[in-house]
Amino acid sequence: MHKQVQKKEINNVESISSDRFERMQRRTLIHLAMEAKKTLDEIRNHLPAHPEAMEYFYERCKLFYDYEYGNDLWQGEKLVAYTCIHVPEELVRAAGAIPVRICSGAYSADQIGAEFLPAKSCPIMKSTAGMAFLRLFRPYGEVVMMVIPTTCDQKTKFNEIAGEFRDDLYILELPPSKESEESRVYWQRVIKRFAKDLEKKTGQRITRRRLKAAMKTQLAAQSAFREFYQIRKDPDPLIWGTDSILALNIYFLDDPENWTSAMKMLIKELLIRKEKKTFLATRRSPRILLTGTPLIFPNIKLSFLIEQLGGIIVADETCSSNRLIYDMAAFDEGFLFDMVPAIADRYLKPCTCPNFTPDTDRERKILEMIKAFSIDGVIYQFYAGCVLYEMAVRRMGIMLEERGIPMLYVETDYSPDDIGQLSTRIEAFLESIKAKKRGKRIRRLTAKSKLKNQRLTMEDYHVFCRVGHWLYRHQDLFGG
Ligand code: SF4
Ligand code: SF4
Repeated sequence: MHKQVQKKEINNVESISSDRFERMQRRTLIHLAMEAKKTLDEIRNHLPAHPEAMEYFYERCKLFYDYEYGNDLWQGEKLVAYTCIHVPEELVRAAGAIPVRICSGAYSADQIGAEFLPAKSCPIMKSTAGMAFLRLFRPYGEVVMMVIPTTCDQKTKFNEIAGEFRDDLYILELPPSKESEESRVYWQRVIKRFAKDLEKKTGQRITRRRLKAAMKTQLAAQSAFREFYQIRKDPDPLIWGTDSILALNIYFLDDPENWTSAMKMLIKELLIRKEKKTFLATRRSPRILLTGTPLIFPNIKLSFLIEQLGGIIVADETCSSNRLIYDMAAFDEGFLFDMVPAIADRYLKPCTCPNFTPDTDRERKILEMIKAFSIDGVIYQFYAGCVLYEMAVRRMGIMLEERGIPMLYVETDYSPDDIGQLSTRIEAFLESIKAKKRGKRIRRLTAKSKLKNQRLTMEDYHVFCRVGHWLYRHQDLFGG
């Protein structure tokens, strides 16, 4: 029996026996594999015309959740498990470990986490806690550290609860604001200390050469991502938003070099599709920007519903997809004292997670994306229990309303129970956008045909003659 589990309790009521622990683990493993398979089958069967290059990403999803399938990732390697997007991957790699983001989207694990977290916790927290408690993360390397940044209140307090069953926790203290110079300096100090602690845990010194190499690997992934980002702006949609979210999810569960090659293959295929005019939807389909709480496989319920009901997610502003690796570190000289603060800045300054206050940067970014991706409507998701995103929705709604951009906000969780109710609301929202687009198109066509059919009336003729006569009389004014 696991030693931490033996000495601790679930619900603080009874000690969990090794038999029960193993039973829970086995049962959850079966459910995880079923959940992953069901989601992948739904995507394959109900969102047609996938690029072939997406198969790589589907297989990685399956590999991570189905223990009976394929070889273990990173067997025998040192791993640094982490949540959120504030943990500098470059430093982890330079310290000889592999960073794996363990924020979980599995409903089966959510139910395990619900046994010892409050019922009102958000599903990400419950699911991640369930996976961490049962030690179900697929990469069976040696987890040397589980890093939890103090982003929202739930993550912060989770550190205390997780400390009851894990002895590898590391708390990364984020400042509550990113605007002031004080918070920047404070965060740089936190990251320098983190680098030192990483070295102690892995036994590998972070040298200038190693850090440069890690940054180079990440830069290659970021360049591929940015190219992919541009392709999604195309007026004729080339890829489902659900596929895009999935491919980007895999970034935090994969080797970055493999991911970059797979992403390049996907980009190549999309460009060929563009040349051949193989589009997934017409220009009349509502172009949606998805924002709010992150979608993490296998919970892609919302994006799947939107696209099944006729919308197309051309952009998203979430920390499990577009926000992941967009921003790059900038430094002048390739020395450690220059690179480490530059890395710290890259994980703080451009981050638009609403845990920072004020939230204005995120609002600005969403407006920019609406323009760049020709967005027709915004769908804002927040998970039940996530007060942070729920509080931010009001300002976002007002801001978009002032600009005439329709927004639908939905509260959901990982359970499939609300699919019916969500479908009705999303369908109505998409229909209203379609009607608006139809109206615009009719107005445009009417204006065009009016111009075409315009006849010269007698009044127009007289005006024309008067102007001509005036020009003739004053030709000296024009050098004639
Ligand atoms: S939205 Fe912010 S706090 Fe929530 S998982 Fe993403 S990075 Fe973490
Ligand atoms: S969904 Fe909300 S409560 Fe949950 S981890 Fe993210 S920010 Fe925190």
